Amino acid sequence: MKAAVMRGTKKIVIEDIPTPEPGANQVLVKIKYSAICGSDVHRFQYGMANDGSVLGHEYIGEVVQIGREVTLLREGDRVVNGGGIAPVGTVSTLTSGARYSARTVGLEATRIGGFAEYVAMDEWRPLLIPGGVSDELAVLAEPASIAVHAVRTSKFKVGDTVVVIGAGPIGLLIIQVLKAAGAAAVYVSEPASSRAESARVLGADLVLNPLKEDVVERVLELSGGPGVPVAFDAAAAKPTFQQGMEMIRRGGQLLVVSMAWENVDLRTVDWIGREVEMKAAYGSDPIDWCTVLNMMERGQISEKSMVTDESFIGWEEMQVSMERLMKPDEHVQLVLVP
Ligand SMILES: [Zn+2]
Repeated sequence: MKAAVMRGTKKIVIEDIPTPEPGANQVLVKIKYSAICGSDVHRFQYGMANDGSVLGHEYIGEVVQIGREVTLLREGDRVVNGGGIAPVGTVSTLTSGARYSARTVGLEATRIGGFAEYVAMDEWRPLLIPGGVSDELAVLAEPASIAVHAVRTSKFKVGDTVVVIGAGPIGLLIIQVLKAAGAAAVYVSEPASSRAESARVLGADLVLNPLKEDVVERVLELSGGPGVPVAFDAAAAKPTFQQGMEMIRRGGQLLVVSMAWENVDLRTVDWIGREVEMKAAYGSDPIDWCTVLNMMERGQISEKSMVTDESFIGWEEMQVSMERLMKPDEHVQLVLVP
C-alpha cells in the first residue's frame, strides 16, 4: 500500500510499504480521510518522528477486514480512529506516566498511522460514526475530542464569558463546544483574517486582532473591568501565555491546550497578585469522543469553513503541505485523501 513515510527531519516520502495484516482481535480499516494535525507538523519540523514511521492520527474509514476473534465490528462499518475504552492493562505508560513530557519522551505515535491507505487497529479502539454525521465532519472527531477535553477539564461554567486565543482547528472547535455548553459570550484573539472569519462563522461573538489592538485592554473593557473567569490558549505564540494570564480575573484560570516548542515570555508581576491559575489539557478520554459524536449528530459541531473543497490534498502534496503548515497560515485544515 501507499504511505507517507518519515525519512528524517522535515522529510516525508511517499513509499510502498506492506499492507498490515489484522491480528485475531484487530480490524483492517481502509482510510478515507486523514487530517494533518499541528502535532504532526511539530514532529516533522523538530525531528520527533522515528525514521520509517507513518504519522497521522485524525482519520476515518471503513472496516474492510476483521480478525477471526472480532465481535465488536463488522465489515462495512464506518469508524473514527479512536474513542474506544482500552481493556484493563493495555493503557500506554507513555502518556500516563507520572513524569510524561511531550518534548523529552516524545509525542505518542503509532508506528503506522493514518497517512496510509490502510491501518490495522485493535477492535476496541475505533468508534462507529453515527449515520447522520458526514465523513467531512467526522474527520474532525479527534481534534474535537481534544477541544471537549479542554473544556471539560477547565473551570468553565455555563453562563461564563470566555476568551479563546488562536483560531486554528483546536481553537475553532473549542469555540463551538463553549457555545454549545452555554457560554454567555466567546471572544477570540486571532491575527490571520481567514481564521478570524472562520471563528465568526462558527459562533465567536467578537474576534480581536492582536496585531492591531491591545487584546488584554479590550477584554478587560468588555468584561467591565475585572477580566474573564476562563481563557483558553490554543495558539502557543510567544506573547499568548502572558496575554491569557493578564485577561483572567481574580481566581480565574488559563487553560493551556497548545504546545509551545520554544520559550514563551512571562512577567509574573502582572498577574500573580490576582492568584490566577494555569492548567494544561492534553489528549482526550473515551467520554470526550462520545460527547463529540453526540454533538456532531445534534448539529452542535460543524466543519463549515474548516473542512472545505480546498482542504483535500493528494499524496504528491504531503511534503509541501507539511512545510506550509510550519508557518502560521491561512489554511485551516488540510486532509489527505489516500
Ligand atoms: Zn492531533
